[in-house]
Amino acid sequence: MRSEGPIIGIDLGTTNSLVAVSDVGGPRVLPDEHGGRMVPSVVRYDAGRVVVGPRAKAELADYPWTTIASVKRLMGRSAADVRADQPYTAYRVVPGERGTARMAVPGVKGDRLISPEEVSAEILRRLKAIAEANLGVPITRAVVTVPAYFDDAQRQATRTAARLAGLEAVRLVPEPTAAALAYGLGLPKGGNGRVSHVAVYDLGGGTFDISVLRLTPGEGDEPFFFQVLAVGGDTHLGGDDMDHRITEALRGEVARWLGLPEGANELPEATGRQIAAQAEGVKIRLSDAESAAVRIEIGSRLFERVITRAEFEAWVAPLVERTIECCRRAMAGAERALADAPLDAVVLVGGATRMPLVRRRVAEFFGIEPYTALNPDEVVALGAAVQGQILSGARRDALLLDVLPLSLGIETAGGAVAKIIVRNSTVPAQATEMFSTQVDGQTSIRLTVFQGEREMAADCRKLGEFHLRGLPPMPAGVPQVEVKFLVDANGVLNVSAHERRSGRRAALQVVPNHGLTPEEVERIERESLTHAREDMARHRVVDLIANSELDLKWVGEGLARHRAALDPAYAAELDGMLADLRGFVDRARADWRSVEPESFAKAKEALDRASVRLQEVAIAASLRQPPTRGSVIGSG
Ligand code: AMP
Repeated sequence: MRSEGPIIGIDLGTTNSLVAVSDVGGPRVLPDEHGGRMVPSVVRYDAGRVVVGPRAKAELADYPWTTIASVKRLMGRSAADVRADQPYTAYRVVPGERGTARMAVPGVKGDRLISPEEVSAEILRRLKAIAEANLGVPITRAVVTVPAYFDDAQRQATRTAARLAGLEAVRLVPEPTAAALAYGLGLPKGGNGRVSHVAVYDLGGGTFDISVLRLTPGEGDEPFFFQVLAVGGDTHLGGDDMDHRITEALRGEVARWLGLPEGANELPEATGRQIAAQAEGVKIRLSDAESAAVRIEIGSRLFERVITRAEFEAWVAPLVERTIECCRRAMAGAERALADAPLDAVVLVGGATRMPLVRRRVAEFFGIEPYTALNPDEVVALGAAVQGQILSGARRDALLLDVLPLSLGIETAGGAVAKIIVRNSTVPAQATEMFSTQVDGQTSIRLTVFQGEREMAADCRKLGEFHLRGLPPMPAGVPQVEVKFLVDANGVLNVSAHERRSGRRAALQVVPNHGLTPEEVERIERESLTHAREDMARHRVVDLIANSELDLKWVGEGLARHRAALDPAYAAELDGMLADLRGFVDRARADWRSVEPESFAKAKEALDRASVRLQEVAIAASLRQPPTRGSVIGSG
């Protein structure tokens, strides 16, 4: 079987399509020659030529009659079925054989009737070529994903499209099932698989789907079974509608600003286009930032406006509530099948699920923090690739392991890694540590998560980073940052940081084992043994530098402030110790090997002990407290 080449995974989407493969390096999306990972599902029929993907999409407005977008809506449907969709497309749909939907594309010799299968085949052919260019072998087989609600005719049309593109669709997998698979949900882990229930919330550009699945570990040749318990959604609800809400609101404001009597209907066309062109960007920026600026030039005048996330959320909240209503109905539909079993996980799919409001509402409704670690645009293709790898016989084992193969930790000041959960811990696993800051008045802390056995971050594998922002300015060492690592039963790592004094929180989610081969794990272990002694010494010196600098600062400042109240001999003793420790820090900074960690630690302890009296004097003058823990995190 293996000689036939890998079985790729294809997400044949309404708006975008992707191709992925899963091999010893784990599942990954394959890029085109320009590095693009998504192929817009748009096909243009030029005279005698077919243009697929980014260019067809970019030039859609110039060729509205010959460019086919959203063909997925027509697959396996009759012309009558899709009449309701017609207002959304410029191209003409006419009845073909037995009433099936056909597109009438104007050509040199009159209209040409094209079937949805042929259009989809063009997209699939392009994906096949991308896979072949990446993998260097001919590709003949694919797992293709389809919506959970696709009926037989729609599935058959998808198979036909694959055949036309020279691909055997070895399996059609429901999209939510693929998304669950990408997270390793449902795969037997260490032989003790169990039934689990998962909701998949998929909010794309134009459509919303909610599915409730049951995953049962299989026996024999089938590694698992998936059962769709309920589906729901709205075929005309998505991120694009959010863009329209922004456009509408801005049109009204600009019209009022211009003093137009008839309101937004009177806006100059060019102005309307400028507004519409900025809407999606505003929405996307507001997923990360608290506000986004809009600038519209109208003749010689400039309309400027800053939209806050709160305003935007108020505009789109009714749309998000509509998706939650669908979730409520789907959960009710699955009620009997679920009996009293709780949901084990919620998976997010689709670009619009990056919106904080969506994540918040989904978490509230289901009462579970949803899985967001994987790119929501890619998770379906990744899951299809995992299924392809299993079907090719290249993988029978579990994607995720029962024990953590490598330690997980966080970077501390100076570039060392504080291990929070150590390797070989059984999952689920959880651990918490306290950290503080290194710099006075730090209002943001960067937290970088690493995996590996080495002591220095540079020698470990970076899994991701996030920021704890909005801290009130406090002296170094005063903030109390609680960092919690939780690896759940599916191997997904949730890292959260909570500053206790201000109540500020931030979190990150990753799948640590994606893209790691058993060989890599072995190499990382081997290296850690080889470097163990040196690494530990270095970690110690790096921590000593960071903590000594805090001491130098406190004691130095305290001494300056309270010298008059101190016995001169005691002050002189502290001066000497400060100089001694400063010397260690300077030398260690230049070359960590040049200092002897034991003497360095002694110099620090000596100062710590001697400065107790100074602290008492300072506390009497009501000063700050000592740091909460030995480690400080790098500055924001
Ligand atoms: P999809 O159909 O899954 O590719 O999703 C596309 C939709 O996701 C479009 O409406 C995008 O504007 C939207 N989208 C992509 N990135 C973001 C983001 N960071 N925040 C909010 N929406 C996004």
